[in-house]
Amino acid sequence: MSVPGSFVHTAHPSRVLFGSGRIRELPEELDRLNLSRVVVICTPRQRPHGQEIAVLAGNRAHSVYAHATMHVPNSVVAAADEYVTTHEIDGAVVVGGGSAVGLGKALALGTGLPVLAVPTTYSGSEMTPIWGITDPGNKTTGRDVRVLPRTVIYDPDLTVNLPAPLSVSSGLNAMAHAAEALYAPDGSPLVEIIAGEAVRALATGLPKIAGDPMNSDVRRELLYGAWLAGTCLGATSMSLHHKLCHIIGGAFGLPHSEVHAIVLPHVLAYNFVGAPRSRELMSRAIGVDDPASWIHSVSRQIGPATSLHELGMREEDVEAVVVEAVANPYSNPRPITPEAIRSIVTHALTGSPPE
Ligand code: NAD
Repeated sequence: MSVPGSFVHTAHPSRVLFGSGRIRELPEELDRLNLSRVVVICTPRQRPHGQEIAVLAGNRAHSVYAHATMHVPNSVVAAADEYVTTHEIDGAVVVGGGSAVGLGKALALGTGLPVLAVPTTYSGSEMTPIWGITDPGNKTTGRDVRVLPRTVIYDPDLTVNLPAPLSVSSGLNAMAHAAEALYAPDGSPLVEIIAGEAVRALATGLPKIAGDPMNSDVRRELLYGAWLAGTCLGATSMSLHHKLCHIIGGAFGLPHSEVHAIVLPHVLAYNFVGAPRSRELMSRAIGVDDPASWIHSVSRQIGPATSLHELGMREEDVEAVVVEAVANPYSNPRPITPEAIRSIVTHALTGSPPE
């Protein structure tokens, strides 16, 4: 490969600690950030995780706030905002997936509260300046470096309990970040290297997770891939795949990572025709001739759902997605036509193999 003639690369400041047992360094990391009265934020389901983290933080932890929910509703942000102000909280430790990280980011956006993130899924949100807040029926998103966690602790030991099917959909959600970064209009040689390594790591871990979900080598590989993929998401603009998943997830209230896992092979099969280098890089990173079919088969065999229909979408919903997907132009390696979108969404709806 020769060096491209010109490019822009955006890198974001973040301190990352990676490795088994590194969560024990939480107290030192909070001291480093000068935080002495933090709230631990998580979803209701992860309250026990949140409590363990609070114990580790010792007297620097004020409380556990287990009210994070999917899509970061405005009402949840307002209540959390009031909580941190009333209790004179000086920082947040967010533990969990994109939902918990999303609430931390929304607080940082509104109040400037410093956030330390402890990711336990592969969503990668902790590495991006992208925030999102939902009012009933309408999600507002934006980019702002103020929402970036100051420190991220990736400890694979905290991910061993993530159920295997959810690990697969979350891992394919991560792979989608790397895949679309490979053909992003604002990619760079560095993004290409990071994305290739992300795909390699994720492809190494994903097929093994169902048979051995507690395996620490597999968990380490997946979390490492998720970190790298999140870095790609933070550095580039995403294309058709992310746009479609945003529309489908938002319109029908479908779960985020599952939608990504199901839609990804169909978008890639379409886009690779206009992005042969991305196809070649993904083939090499996964070690297969046909990366789209490989993703489809992993998703079908060990993911939580095999089709959008199984998640609750109906055939009569397809046209609404087509209309919205073609309404506003955005960058993509191939033309975004109603026929193409209809075919991609219909394949994802039925779970049939990518063409
Ligand atoms: P999630 O955070 O909603 O987690 C899914 C479920 O898994 C939750 O019930 C959670 O409590 C549970 N969970 C998390 N970790 C666990 C563990 N280790 N063991 C057992 N259960 C665990 O889902 P997600 O896929 O991580 O994140 C999705 C959200 O993140 C969406 O709202 C999406 O829009 C957002 N997101 C944002 C960005 C960004 O850059 N802003 C990037 C990716 C995703």
